[in-house]
Amino acid sequence: MTRAISLREVSKSYGRGVRAVDRFSLDIAPGEFVVLLGPSGCGKSTVLRMIAGLEGITSGELLLDGEYANDLAPGDRKMAMVFQNFALYSMMTSRENIGFPLRYESPGQDPGPRIAETARALGIEDLLDRYPGQLSGGERQRVAMGRAISRHPSAFLMDEPLSSLDAKLRSYLRAEIARLTRDMGVTTVYVTHDQAEAMSLGDRVAVMRNGVLQQVGTPHEAYHLPRNVFVAAFIGTPRINLLRAVVHAPLGGGMWIDLGTQRLSIPEPLSRDHQMLRIQQGQPVIVGLRPEALRIGRLNTIRPGEVVLTGVVQHLEYQGHETLVHLNIGARPAVMPELESPRPPAARQRSHAMSRAGSTVRLRQLVQKATARVHGQEQETAFEHPAPRVGNEPPATRGGDLVLRTGADLRLNMGQQVPILVDLAYLYVFDHVGNRISPAPQQTSNLAP
Ligand code: ADP
Repeated sequence: MTRAISLREVSKSYGRGVRAVDRFSLDIAPGEFVVLLGPSGCGKSTVLRMIAGLEGITSGELLLDGEYANDLAPGDRKMAMVFQNFALYSMMTSRENIGFPLRYESPGQDPGPRIAETARALGIEDLLDRYPGQLSGGERQRVAMGRAISRHPSAFLMDEPLSSLDAKLRSYLRAEIARLTRDMGVTTVYVTHDQAEAMSLGDRVAVMRNGVLQQVGTPHEAYHLPRNVFVAAFIGTPRINLLRAVVHAPLGGGMWIDLGTQRLSIPEPLSRDHQMLRIQQGQPVIVGLRPEALRIGRLNTIRPGEVVLTGVVQHLEYQGHETLVHLNIGARPAVMPELESPRPPAARQRSHAMSRAGSTVRLRQLVQKATARVHGQEQETAFEHPAPRVGNEPPATRGGDLVLRTGADLRLNMGQQVPILVDLAYLYVFDHVGNRISPAPQQTSNLAP
């Protein structure tokens, strides 16, 4: 049996002041694989633990198969959890570890067939008589998965189960988890801060920030129609280029987006999405350009829907099959403090010593720092603007303000000036608080497809 899981306006407060999850609503269909994605401390694990019954719900409702389940004992929920550091019993073999939960769930029944079936599904038959100390990290995690699977749970709840493993093993086990959960058809809620993992695993991805659900959608929707600048910046590598800009749409006609020293001219007739920008006349906005919306090309290769900018090559990142080109176009990047990394070593050391509650305070301070005065009002912005340029001082050019991909065979030199062709079909515009205004916002349902 597999479960439908619904959360209705669920909140979690830890004492006074710490609101870990804020009015979180999500309907998960039986058999669906949903990933909770967001930066560390945004409330993902808390949501998962409330579903498991390991954490009380402060307000709101949890429904399991449509039944009110806020107070249901964890054991009665028939869910299996897999954690990052799933502790196996060191004095038991893999066989005993996998069979352990069965002793309590089905006392008197021979666990042998279930253990054998589980070991076959995971390809760990030859590891059954080994102790945890005789297993590699990846093997231990597979035994841990086996312990969760053998119970035939009604749902899997996985909390960063792969994050302690190396990259190669992680991608291998990721595929294993996708296959296993698909074959078993069991509802799965998977927590990760790794957007690539989320995109490759989830039927749907639920992006969280500061305890608040930002968007739920298929990986395709989350990437192509991010509801706000946070989702746009969190998903995709290299990260979307975010630039401060001002929309100009004078009554006399024409439209252009001022990027600083250059402008993007929007050709007429305006598309429906670009017409949406008219109401932003004279307003500061954030322009989002994914690297694939940009190409370096000769002017005589320009295609319909493309416009031209000029950039100066600042830095080249050779990747083998492609090169990431960092360019300066004289624009001002919009910075998202929560997503900038790494922190300086001193700050990192300090943060180790801080409690989780302490980290929350720090996160709050960071968000407060991002509160900017916009049009005379205090508003919480989704981004922080670097200080405006003074006099003839060049714009911030550390690595450039725009990143695009090219084929690895394109020869470029540092300092070279190049034409950048921008495909306006992939132009994102966000308002000053970070909500997407173009392409036009659509109703994105958070109900299962
Ligand atoms: P994530 O899984 O996204 O990293 P968590 O759900 O673990 O985030 O935590 C969300 C917020 O709740 C964080 O600010 C964290 O510090 C806080 N938090 C988590 N558990 C507790 C607790 N037991 N007491 C107080 N604060 C907590």
